[in-house]
Amino acid sequence: MFNTIQNKIEQSLKFIKGNHKITEINIAKTLKEIKKALIESDVSYKTCQHIIDSVKQKAIGLNLIDNITPDQFIVKIIKDELKLIMGNKMSNISINNTPTIILLLGLQGVGKTTFAAKLALWIKDNYNKKVTLIAADIHRPAAIKQLQILGEKINIPVYYEDNSNNATNIVLNCLNNPKYKNDDIFIIDTAGRLGIDIKMTNEINDIKKHVKIDETLMIVDSMSGQNAINNAKIFNDAIGFTGIVMTKLDGDNKGGATISIVHTTNKPIKFISTGEKMSNIDIFYPDRMASRILGMGDVISLVEKAQKIFKKTQNKSLKDVLKNDFNMNDFMGYIKKIKSIGNIKELIGFLPKNHHLSSLNQDINTDIFNSFEIIYNSMTEKERINPLRINKFRINKISQGCGKTILEVNNMLEYFQRSKKIINNLKKNKYNTSQILNKIKKNMF
Ligand code: GDP
Repeated sequence: MFNTIQNKIEQSLKFIKGNHKITEINIAKTLKEIKKALIESDVSYKTCQHIIDSVKQKAIGLNLIDNITPDQFIVKIIKDELKLIMGNKMSNISINNTPTIILLLGLQGVGKTTFAAKLALWIKDNYNKKVTLIAADIHRPAAIKQLQILGEKINIPVYYEDNSNNATNIVLNCLNNPKYKNDDIFIIDTAGRLGIDIKMTNEINDIKKHVKIDETLMIVDSMSGQNAINNAKIFNDAIGFTGIVMTKLDGDNKGGATISIVHTTNKPIKFISTGEKMSNIDIFYPDRMASRILGMGDVISLVEKAQKIFKKTQNKSLKDVLKNDFNMNDFMGYIKKIKSIGNIKELIGFLPKNHHLSSLNQDINTDIFNSFEIIYNSMTEKERINPLRINKFRINKISQGCGKTILEVNNMLEYFQRSKKIINNLKKNKYNTSQILNKIKKNMF
C-alpha cells in the first residue's frame, strides 16, 4: 500500500537536497516529480494540482533552519497538505440519538455487507450499545445470507424478510417490531449494483423519505482508483451521504482515491477497512494517514492496537502483569491475542518505512506462533510458572514430546526471555500504558 507514492516522492526529493534556500527554480524539478507520483497513484488531477500549488506557495522563499534539510522541510509541508486535503481532523460517527439509524450504500463488491457487520461489532464493543443489522438488499439473496452468517459469528441479531420486494417496508417492519424496541442502533445494509442505476437510487431515497436516518455512509473500494471518486460524486448528487468508508486499504493499491475523495466530495472519511476480518476496522485520522502515505509510519495506531491486546489478554491489565513475575502462561496469552487480532504483517505496515522491522513485511511467518503453542502444551504447569526450571534434559524431553526440534524449543525460550526483559524494563521505569503512548507520540511528532 502506498509504495509507489512513497518511492517516487523519496526520489523526487533528491533534486532539492543541498540547498540553503528553496527557490522557484530549485524546487521546480521536485514538484514536477511529486506531481507525477501523485497522478500515477490515481490522485485526481484537480486534487494533485491543489497539493502542488499549496506546497509551492508554502515552500518558496523559506530560509531553512539549522539541522533541517530542504527535503525534510518539503516532506513536512506535503504531510501537512495531505492531512488538510483528507479532512484535517478526525470526524466522529454520530450515534447519540436513541435509536440511531445508520444506512450504508455503495456498489456491489465494495465490502458493504462485511463493513455492516464490522461496524455493528465496533459499536457494540466500544459503546456497549444494543445493535441490530437490517438486511435490506432485496435483489441479492446471497447478501442476506452473508449478513446472517456474519451476524451469527459476532453475536449480533440480523433482521431479514424472506421474499420481500420492498426495502423500505423491511426497514419499517424492523423498527416497529416490539422485539427491537429497546435497541440503540440499527444498521441498514442496502442493495448495491454493478453500476449506479435509477432503480437503486430510488429505492434508497425511498427509505430515506420514510425513515429518519442519522448517518448515511458511502462505502468505497479504495482499489478502484478514479472510478471510486466518480461513483462517490454520483452517489452524493443522487442520494447524499454524511461520511465515507474506504475499504480494502490493506490491498496492494495505489491509494490515490483516499487522498482525493474528501477534496472531491467535501464529505469526511469516517472509517477505513483494512482486511476481511471483523477486527479490521479503524477510525480515519487524516494526520496518521498522511504519515502512512509518506512512509513515516503510523506509530500511534500501532500502539493502540498493541494496547488492545494488552487490555484483552486473559483479563489482565498491563498493571497486573507488571506487578507479578511475567511467566510462560502470560507469554502464551499474549501470543494467542496477537494471533487473534490478525496478521502480524498488518501491524508492521504501521511502522515507518525505514524502521528495521518494516523490511520484514513480506517474510514474517506467523507459523512460529503455532509452533510456540505446541511446545507450550508439552511443558508442565510448574515449568510454565517458572521457566527457569527447564534444563537441557527437560528441553530434550519437551522436544520429543511435541515433535519440535531442540533448536525450536530453545528459540521459544529465548523469545520468552526477550519479552520478559521488555516487560521488566517497563516495570523498572514505572510507565503506564498512556505514558508509553505519550512518549511515543512526542518522539514521533
Ligand atoms: P458488498 O457486495 O459490497 O456487500 O461486498 P462484500 O461485503 O460482500 O465484500 C466483497 C468482498 O470483499 C468479500 O470477499 C469480502 O471479504 C472482501 N472485503 C471486504 N472488505 C475488505 C477489506 O477491507 N479488505 C479486503 N482485502 N477484502 C475485503
